[in-house]
Amino acid sequence: MKSYDVAVIGGGIIGITSAFFLSRLGKKVVVLEQGCLATRTTANSFAWINASSKAAKGDYHQLNASGLAGYNELAQEFGEEPLGLNPCGQLYVVRTNDDTRYHELRQRWELLQEKNYPTAWVEAKELPNLEPSINFNQEYEALYNFGELCLDAPRFSRFLAEQIRIKGGVVLENTEVLELDISSSGHIRGLRTKIETLEAEKILLAAGASSAEMLAQLTGFSGFANRFPLNKSPGLLVTTPNLSPRKLTRRVIYWEQTPDLHILPHFSGGWRMGADDTDGVIANDDTEENRRAAAGSLLERARERIIGFPETLSINDCSIGVGIRPVPEDGISIADVLPGSENFFVVVTHSGVTLSPILGKLMAEFMESGTRPRELLPYSLTRFPGFQ
Ligand SMILES: Cc1cc2nc3c(=O)[nH]c(=O)nc-3n(C[C@H](O)[C@H](O)[C@H](O)COP(=O)(O)OP(=O)(O)OC[C@H]3O[C@@H](n4cnc5c(N)ncnc54)[C@H](O)[C@@H]3O)c2cc1C
Repeated sequence: MKSYDVAVIGGGIIGITSAFFLSRLGKKVVVLEQGCLATRTTANSFAWINASSKAAKGDYHQLNASGLAGYNELAQEFGEEPLGLNPCGQLYVVRTNDDTRYHELRQRWELLQEKNYPTAWVEAKELPNLEPSINFNQEYEALYNFGELCLDAPRFSRFLAEQIRIKGGVVLENTEVLELDISSSGHIRGLRTKIETLEAEKILLAAGASSAEMLAQLTGFSGFANRFPLNKSPGLLVTTPNLSPRKLTRRVIYWEQTPDLHILPHFSGGWRMGADDTDGVIANDDTEENRRAAAGSLLERARERIIGFPETLSINDCSIGVGIRPVPEDGISIADVLPGSENFFVVVTHSGVTLSPILGKLMAEFMESGTRPRELLPYSLTRFPGFQ
């Protein structure tokens, strides 16, 4: 029987990054992915690496800021290009006559400055220099988070998978984990796939949005399917085809207005966009008709706001993706050992693109040493009723 120090279930960005840091600690790892690497939520993510949207969230803001720092460290080592990193920065633009939102954004700016976050306020006259293709009409100002990035998340995951292999680890695709191998005394010895049983000293579940169902299936305790504190929140993203040599927008841009629009330059040479209200439409009723209507509305918003956005581009030219966000019930990450077990760990989170370098690193340290790093204290499962 093949034997590993750690088996990681799930080849999304969270599982791969955790396995990468485990292999750096000298652990013999195997990653098991039921489909192809990074093709589920990780592939259907906006993939903006940021801590500015969590400015008011104390420890969680700090965790996200550490995620950004983690990417910068990896970029120093491997370079931005192979990792799929674009250090483009991000702008929240707001109308100066929208008192409520303007005030909220100024408050966020103050909070970020208190945290020494790389951020600046941009006056109306300076905005066209930053984004010449946006029709600002002098009525907008912006919060500029110049240290933020965006990521080609599948490319990043595949690159780290290669690093795992170089270190002697194993990354298996098309390998679904069916159940745990548990001894008569209740000790988890390993896991079973359709083809084989693998021995593993420790197991990490990184199954994203299907974590609750997976816990139920793997442990044979069906109660986990309902008891595990995880919500699923769908999000719709439209990606245009390659529009080069157009420049259009350069940064991640959030319009703080109704209807909103989030847009970023995608690695394919096109642009990726989404919005909160269009997510709401498909969350209520995810039909093909609703997807196309939501996508059409996003293209219309982009056409109105971006000078040079192609007039004739239609949704038939674009790809429409729906990703399922794994969102723990209180909105922040779960990164813990399963209470009652010594060797079965779980990590699941929203903002997993931002967080993967720090959560992966901390989980690797936790699993290696058996001692929970201080930074992981707020993310235990025991904060939820039913796990205390
Ligand atoms: C629309 C949208 C926008 C987003 N925008 C951002 C953003 O801007 N910034 C940000 O930081 N985050 C963002 N997120 C969140 C982020 O994308 C996710 O938190 C992250 O991708 C989760 O990664 P994961 O590895 O946990 O999940 P996944 O990518 O879903 O990976 C889990 C993997 O586990 C595998 N698996 C499950 N069960 C088994 C089994 N039994 N055996 C083997 N394999 C199994 C699945 O096949 C899957 O590949 C966004 C998400 C969405 C949907």
